[in-house]
Amino acid sequence: MAAEGGGPRCRLEFAVQMTCQNCVEAIQSSLRGTPGLEVLDVRLDSQSVLVETSLSTEEVHGLLEGTGRKAVLKGMGGAVPHPPGSAAVAMVSGPGVIQGVVRFLQLSQEKCLIDGTIDGLQPGPHGIHVHEFGDITGSCDSCGDHFNPDGECHGGPQDVHRHAGDLGNILATTSGRASFRMEDNRLKVSDIIGRSLVVDSGADDLGRGNHPLSKVTGNSGQRVACGIIARSAGLFENPKKICACDGVTLWEEREQPLAGPGRRAASQPTPHL
Ligand code: ZN
Repeated sequence: MAAEGGGPRCRLEFAVQMTCQNCVEAIQSSLRGTPGLEVLDVRLDSQSVLVETSLSTEEVHGLLEGTGRKAVLKGMGGAVPHPPGSAAVAMVSGPGVIQGVVRFLQLSQEKCLIDGTIDGLQPGPHGIHVHEFGDITGSCDSCGDHFNPDGECHGGPQDVHRHAGDLGNILATTSGRASFRMEDNRLKVSDIIGRSLVVDSGADDLGRGNHPLSKVTGNSGQRVACGIIARSAGLFENPKKICACDGVTLWEEREQPLAGPGRRAASQPTPHL
């Protein structure tokens, strides 16, 4: 569940406040030598930093802000150009302060990368699943069942027999934040656009429990947060630009937006969704 140095690589573009060439060099030297991360481009004119990495977006974001500069993730893409419709994003929210952003990227036929940060959760494990409907009109209860095109029983992400939407658990720390980067060989981005992502109150038993719901839902409790999975522009959909920004920023970035090119006004509708 946590980022692993040997995991698949993707590209991330961040908007980072830089005022002079010294900033460019400071960022390059502070990131250089980080395992699992390669700096591809740092541009002062467009205030952008492009990296290729097996680290989570949260980790790279932390490294960039560790240089004392505000950074906002603008987009995520594969290491090679991928066809349109290979990237998706879900803005997840629930009662109270639960909110998060989860990005999906189809790295190859078999490999879907899922990267996200969700805040406001109770500390501990939470089941996370793609559900069949992109309908949150009745809160998370109208999202339907776990996405299950093959008529399987509920299982864990590593199981042969599982719902396609079964992504296992994410772990919230004592601060209530769950940051995760996982790869899945069953889920396809093209299959899940227009569906929903739901986070549950408790741990998913991966179909291995004694409870009657174990083989149905993993007995992971109430649905506490959900969001519709929307198509987003991956990094390479517009080859003339490095980044086709997916237009989704983290909540804390919305409250304290960048000055300059990375800035998005609070009143602007979210583009590209
Ligand atoms: Zn399931």
